[in-house]
Amino acid sequence: MISGYDKAAFDLLTFYREAGVDVALGEEPVDRFADVDLVLPAAGPARPEPIKPLPAGLPQPNRPAPMPLPAAAAPPPPDEAIMAARAAAQSATSLEALRAIMEKFEGCALRTTAKQLVFGDGSPQARLMLVGEAPGSEEDRRGVPFVGRSGQLLDRMLSAIGIARQDAYIANIVPWRPPGNRDPSIHESQTCLPFIQRQIELVDPDIIICLGKPSTATLLGVTDGIRRTRGRWFKYDTGTREIRATATFHPAYLLRTPIEKRFAWRDFLAVKKALQSPTP
Ligand code: URA
Repeated sequence: MISGYDKAAFDLLTFYREAGVDVALGEEPVDRFADVDLVLPAAGPARPEPIKPLPAGLPQPNRPAPMPLPAAAAPPPPDEAIMAARAAAQSATSLEALRAIMEKFEGCALRTTAKQLVFGDGSPQARLMLVGEAPGSEEDRRGVPFVGRSGQLLDRMLSAIGIARQDAYIANIVPWRPPGNRDPSIHESQTCLPFIQRQIELVDPDIIICLGKPSTATLLGVTDGIRRTRGRWFKYDTGTREIRATATFHPAYLLRTPIEKRFAWRDFLAVKKALQSPTP
């Protein structure tokens, strides 16, 4: 039987996790308001007076010593990071080499908050490649894309058209989990774009499915809403080959909006048909 105290603690932890607070930085909470100098910019306008100690005799609040701020990692300037990613991605001649290059790539600050790189999963010979947006917490923990709740739905959608997950290839635009599952910024997506582009070239699938609007916009350059783009066919040009590409709802959206599953079902049936025909 769970006590009222345990239940409150459990509810609080659940709330933290849903809010994206899933990393403990220290054993003790730190009252950052207690250290005004730490919070205010050095050259700001009027600064409030530092908090004065209470008169002697009154109990003093127990303020822990301020924690030093971690030295800010200086990411390279935006254009430099994108150019470095392009050069690095192009130098990879195999998926293993690409993974090794991405493991070492320092141009995207997300790698410093993520637990690990979430590279890709499935068959390197797959005819079907699915591209999502960015890993979530379960993917970050396991280092494999689409293994959380939305991944389980994706597996079921694939198996409904007769494709086992391990026969497709699954990856994301951004291979590191953004903290708190926030959306990747445009700059983060653009920095990581050369990597997924190279991953597509190396897998060389016959069909690409973009899962959700961010993936569709980044990969295909189509910025219409996903309701307008889903089910349509596009050409994804690798420079040496045109690959048929389509878009559908992201499984996470389908979990929240199950009524839209019927459209995703139609999109997957169209993909099944397209896989059976050699040309668009
Ligand atoms: N959502 C994504 O876009 N990718 C994952 O890998 C998991 C959830």
